[in-house]
Amino acid sequence: MTDAAAVSYWLETSRDDLTPRPPLDGSTDVDVAILGAGMTGLWTAWYLARRDPSLRIAVIERQIAGFGASGRNGGWCAPDLNITMSRLERLHGIDAARRMQQATYDAVDEVGRACEEAGIDAGFHKGGEIILARGRQGEPSLQGALEEYTRFGFGDRYRIVSGTDLTDRIRVAGATTALVSEDAAWIHPGRLTRGLARAVERLGVRIHEGTSVTDVRPRDASGRATLVTDRGDVRAPVVVLAGEAYLTQLPGLHRQLIPLYSLIVLTEPVSDAAWAEIGWANREVVASTRLSVDYLSRTEDGRILFGGRGAPYRWGSPIKDAFDRHEATHERLRGFVREWFPMLGDVGFSHAWGGPLGMPRDWHPTMAFDPATGIATSRGYIGHGVSTTNIGGRILADLVTGTHSPMTELPIVNHRSPDWEPEPFRWIGVRYSQWSLGRLDDKIARTGEPPSGRSIAERIANH
Ligand SMILES: Cc1cc2nc3c(=O)[nH]c(=O)nc-3n(C[C@H](O)[C@H](O)[C@H](O)COP(=O)(O)OP(=O)(O)OC[C@H]3O[C@@H](n4cnc5c(N)ncnc54)[C@H](O)[C@@H]3O)c2cc1C
Repeated sequence: MTDAAAVSYWLETSRDDLTPRPPLDGSTDVDVAILGAGMTGLWTAWYLARRDPSLRIAVIERQIAGFGASGRNGGWCAPDLNITMSRLERLHGIDAARRMQQATYDAVDEVGRACEEAGIDAGFHKGGEIILARGRQGEPSLQGALEEYTRFGFGDRYRIVSGTDLTDRIRVAGATTALVSEDAAWIHPGRLTRGLARAVERLGVRIHEGTSVTDVRPRDASGRATLVTDRGDVRAPVVVLAGEAYLTQLPGLHRQLIPLYSLIVLTEPVSDAAWAEIGWANREVVASTRLSVDYLSRTEDGRILFGGRGAPYRWGSPIKDAFDRHEATHERLRGFVREWFPMLGDVGFSHAWGGPLGMPRDWHPTMAFDPATGIATSRGYIGHGVSTTNIGGRILADLVTGTHSPMTELPIVNHRSPDWEPEPFRWIGVRYSQWSLGRLDDKIARTGEPPSGRSIAERIANH
């Protein structure tokens, strides 16, 4: 097992005892068996156990609760999906696209509400969201985003600000304009995930840590599906696959997602004098229009978290602890902190970590249950899992208990993404996209020209 506290600053400061819970002790029968003690698995357990306290629910976790992306992310609990409303409209119609977007706003509030109900101090803080244009070249994409929200009826939730309306919120070098909304929250990922694990245990859910699922079998003649583990079989009428990127390491699921690494650097606590210059008093979650993605948050103890993609996809989709750190990318992120906030001088960095996101071939999340096999899953969030896992937990609780609800009518329900191409095509395609998005960002910064929106890389990014 990995040194849990070293996985991320969030696990280190989770205020929870990270000693692994006992592993599974031989084969067992339950009503619902869940693979993965991240936000997906634990929200699913939470909503199921609340609905029917008599359900016997077991969560099987290879490491410890929060070991995956749920204990490592940027703390954004935002009403964003990785798929655009326009694309949802093309696939499912305008009404479905609107309902899906509304569900993301509701999910942010539901995370806050459920934390309160469960007694989880996750630091939930609804400070809003700021997307910055750093230079005029970023402004058309903000305008385009506002037009899209307006077309779908959500325009009054967003505003474009500049001048003192922007600098009163945050001062970032080169920032000219921003799209702001009040709908996003910040959470402490470690406290949320670890707190949720304790909360579901109080409802009678059993969590077995240090136990690896090695195979998944559909319902047999007895009506039970199986999670095959290194410690025995867990048989249940319903098994839930909540392993996100790690699912790619299981037989039969290898090409449903690719693991793509997102990396983070964290500063030492910033001085009061520097905070007075930066502002950011409301602790909004912050990003810019860069195509290759950046995301920032201000922690409760006054540090700046700067995250981004850029770590190269690796041939054959492996996942290894060693990939959590990629010095060239981490150094680039540290450079961004210095560039965005020159008032920090040579601020120190205390932590650097990362982890795998699960990326489906069509960028479309899936929340599904097949009664024939007994297998349910919620996955494919890419970088927007914190609020979306909550949607997934509620949808799966409805689907597996046969409850028809507005949640089960959402267009992500029972979607099936196409498989990724086999290697070498997968490696060539993903590496090409990563390289061309980075190159395009550099060109935009260099020339001050907005992107055309027509390059292959942009079309992939705007999926
Ligand atoms: C660096 C980083 C930054 C991010 N930032 C944000 C952000 O700011 N906002 C946002 O919304 N989203 C963000 N995301 C995405 C978000 O964190 C994820 O989408 C979300 O946490 C996924 O939750 P999950 O429970 O589905 O998967 P995970 O949290 O990855 O949990 C899966 C669990 O399953 C376990 N597991 C896997 N395979 C097996 C097996 N075979 N047997 C037993 N156990 C197994 C793993 O150990 C793990 O604990 C970020 C992700 C990363 C990596």
